[in-house]
Amino acid sequence: MNRGGRPIKFISKLEAALVVMALVSVAIILIPSESLRTSLTINPTDYPATLVDDAYSGGNSEVRWLDRDSQRWECELGRGANDPYCSLQLDVTNAEGQGLDLRRFDTVTIWTDYQGSAKHMRFYLRNRHSNYYDPSNSITTKYNAVELLVDELATGVAVDMKNDFSVPSWWLIRWEIPLAFSHPEFNEVSVIEVQTGSTVRSGTHEIQLQKVVFSGPLIEQSVLYQGVIIVWAIIIFGMLISRLLNMRSALNRQRQYQEELLAINQSLNLKSQRYKDMAKTDALTGLPNRVGIRNMLHKGLMDWRNHGAPFAFVIIDLDNFKQINDTYGHDIGDRILKDAARLMSNRVRRSDALARWGGEEFVLVCPDTTLEQAEQVAENLRAELEHSLVHEGESITASFGVASMDDANLDHLFKKADTALYKAKDLGRNRVYSDKSSESLR
Ligand code: GH3
Ligand code: MG
Ligand code: MG
Repeated sequence: MNRGGRPIKFISKLEAALVVMALVSVAIILIPSESLRTSLTINPTDYPATLVDDAYSGGNSEVRWLDRDSQRWECELGRGANDPYCSLQLDVTNAEGQGLDLRRFDTVTIWTDYQGSAKHMRFYLRNRHSNYYDPSNSITTKYNAVELLVDELATGVAVDMKNDFSVPSWWLIRWEIPLAFSHPEFNEVSVIEVQTGSTVRSGTHEIQLQKVVFSGPLIEQSVLYQGVIIVWAIIIFGMLISRLLNMRSALNRQRQYQEELLAINQSLNLKSQRYKDMAKTDALTGLPNRVGIRNMLHKGLMDWRNHGAPFAFVIIDLDNFKQINDTYGHDIGDRILKDAARLMSNRVRRSDALARWGGEEFVLVCPDTTLEQAEQVAENLRAELEHSLVHEGESITASFGVASMDDANLDHLFKKADTALYKAKDLGRNRVYSDKSSESLR
């Protein structure tokens, strides 16, 4: 905490957000993509399974369920076919008949229990694609194949889906698949198939597919980097736009302020901007001159307009001053002007500003002051002058015109105060008159 009691701000909210964003970006770049992965587990018993033998290829192998519920099955390979086999086909299509889109996965891990003499077992992820799939013929699904060691399958074997699968040549030749469509694909896998291996041609084999898990990056590293870059671009763009808007509104405020000052200059009969540079103090009395109270008038106007703060204005004119000059000379006149300024300065409230308006006229600017309060202030000044401003035994007095702001127009305020002053003179001088009937001036 500093002396003023307010905490010292080291960084702004925006800067804090930028720091957080920078840390997040660094973390995204440094965290290995391996730690952000997603997976899909296939429990075979959740899907309908079919057992298939090699009768289609002219074989006489026999396949049967050992336990339908746990999907445990047995195959006795016959010698009828060149390449005898039995399969379990797991239908993984959904209720709409749609296969699995496995493109986001890079690895498939397979667990299988096997009893028998074979060393290998075959797996197919059979895929549909309009380039080759004919719904009336299930063999037109592409056979994405991998042949695995049964020893590994007991504890689960992870297969690289991008590199380890291949499409068997018999399938490519059979359907005359062009080279462009001959690579493994996983856009819509409808069947997961487990088959006896290609190196075994006889015997009994007991098989149970236990689990298949597909896994892959939750989000591609390149997508993640793109995201980071896009977020940064948005932040920078947003900052530029907000700075531009801030500059524009500051410019507008500045312009408005200039226009208002110009209007006030006109009200004060200050003809040119060069008056800005003029001294703000009246040389004779040491009081502020018109320029000196310009900002205060502007503030009073703004406070009245924005917050409805009352604002009063008093014009003070020494009585019969021409005669004083004529009687005692101009120098004495000057001294009396100085004395009047000093006496009044000592009496005005701190919040008010006394200024020399010109000649033997002064003004008092009273922020946050009602007409009644300003009348009282004026009355105090009047009494002070009458009592203290004495030359050769003769009291020198002044008349006061008081007005308060009731529209956002300084000209109206000045004119009302002037009219009130005229009235004070008319009523015999040495008095305060306030323009309560302000409405009549509009
Ligand atoms: P009224 O009570 O109606 O105000 O009468 P007045 O004589 O004060 O009014 P008028 O406007 O006729 O005269 C003002 C005089 O103030 C005229 C001028 O000589 C004098 N005066 C203006 N400025 C100065 C100044 O700086 N020094 C001196 N000594 N006299 C000044
Ligand atoms: Mg005058
Ligand atoms: Mg006068």
